[in-house]
Amino acid sequence: MDVRARDAVLEADSAQLNHSVQHIAGLGASVVNLALVASFWGQWNVISTIVGVGLGLTLFNVVFLEWLARRFTRVVVEAVRMAVNVVGVCLVGIHTQWAPLLWVFVPYNMLWYFGLDRWVRLRMALYLGSVDVVALSTGASPTLALAFSLIGIFGYLVSEKRVTLLRGSLAQVRHQREELEKAQQEMQQLHQRALEQERLSSLGLMAANVAHEINNPMSFVTSNIDSMLHELRVGQNLPELVKEYVDDLLPATLDGARRVNSIVSDLRRFSRGGYEGPVGYDFNAEARTALRIARVQLGHVRVEDELGEVGSVVGRPRQLVQVLVNLLVNAGQATAPGGVVRLTTRREGDRVRVEVRDTGTGMSEETKRRLFEPFFTTKPPGLGTGLGLSVVLGIIKTHGGRIDVESELGKGTCFTVELPRVPSLPLEDNSGGNLQAVSRTG
Ligand code: ADP
Repeated sequence: MDVRARDAVLEADSAQLNHSVQHIAGLGASVVNLALVASFWGQWNVISTIVGVGLGLTLFNVVFLEWLARRFTRVVVEAVRMAVNVVGVCLVGIHTQWAPLLWVFVPYNMLWYFGLDRWVRLRMALYLGSVDVVALSTGASPTLALAFSLIGIFGYLVSEKRVTLLRGSLAQVRHQREELEKAQQEMQQLHQRALEQERLSSLGLMAANVAHEINNPMSFVTSNIDSMLHELRVGQNLPELVKEYVDDLLPATLDGARRVNSIVSDLRRFSRGGYEGPVGYDFNAEARTALRIARVQLGHVRVEDELGEVGSVVGRPRQLVQVLVNLLVNAGQATAPGGVVRLTTRREGDRVRVEVRDTGTGMSEETKRRLFEPFFTTKPPGLGTGLGLSVVLGIIKTHGGRIDVESELGKGTCFTVELPRVPSLPLEDNSGGNLQAVSRTG
């Protein structure tokens, strides 16, 4: 907390404290005044001074101080209050020839005004010094002056210490409550995240099973078409219809079957889950895998790629695919039919730079600010979980890289990822799994 904020809290606390003891302070002052009046009964001049000063001080405290408080700072108001109190005590003191009962007011006044602001000690010293100087120069007993001044000083210091301790405990309680609220919020988030992860894991598992089931029959289909094509090509005198099959239909079918195979094998590899250790891998080959996996979500846009020479890098290839699939799918979802999504990779010294650029909706300032927060999504339920970019950020961080975003509403977005070709940090696996992208492509 900075000094100004701390002073504000201090003033608020002290003002509240003073307000709540005001009626006891008023009662005490009235009782001492009554006792003074009783002890001077018959000396009407003195009594009229006591009553007059008492009424004057009450009026001043109730009406004038309020008026002052609306116009000036607390330091000014308290300085005026102190000066008026000095005048009141001295007036009554001189008229009562500094009776012991009058001296009660000196420590009594000092008890109530601690802690209001930083100048309170100086004010108390001025208060006591002024009263003592006037008292001693107008015939007060030095012993009485010393006795009540000492009570005033030590009474003030004890009260001040008590309030400081109390305030410290209050601040501690407040801090603990804040910590507790924060921990509760974090726990709620973790709980929600665990639920999401569970849902995503089952989707990933299902995708892996389905991919496995498709893989076997597809292997037969591909190999049978391949052999058939091979045998037919060496055959002589084929009928016209069969020739058409050999030249056009069967190669196209084989090509389609191979594409299905590569998608299935990407899916199997990608949804396998479990620990993936850092390895050296061909960066662009994984970028192509990501493009294939995201293809379904990019069917409505023109996909461009410019994969520059990057070579082999060290990291977790499945996680890199997950990053790219998330960025590509987001780009596809934000872009209207006919728009463009472009993936670029290039090597810059010992780093790899990847750009996923789209001509989609772009993002508002609010979205840009909250983009990487877990569970932040602007998509309708079922389409977005709000976990994609937080997982992306986690993976990039564990690879020692960075991600930046540029976006303009109505114009499009560009995510730039920079990764070291060989991360210097040991790669921790805290990215939150690799199943998010599978659930998107499903
Ligand atoms: P989800 O896609 O499940 O909503 P993400 O964490 O991947 O979760 O994305 C968070 C939000 O960021 C999205 O809901 C969307 O508002 C915004 N966003 C991400 N990528 C893009 C993009 N390419 N264009 C516009 N908005 C985007």
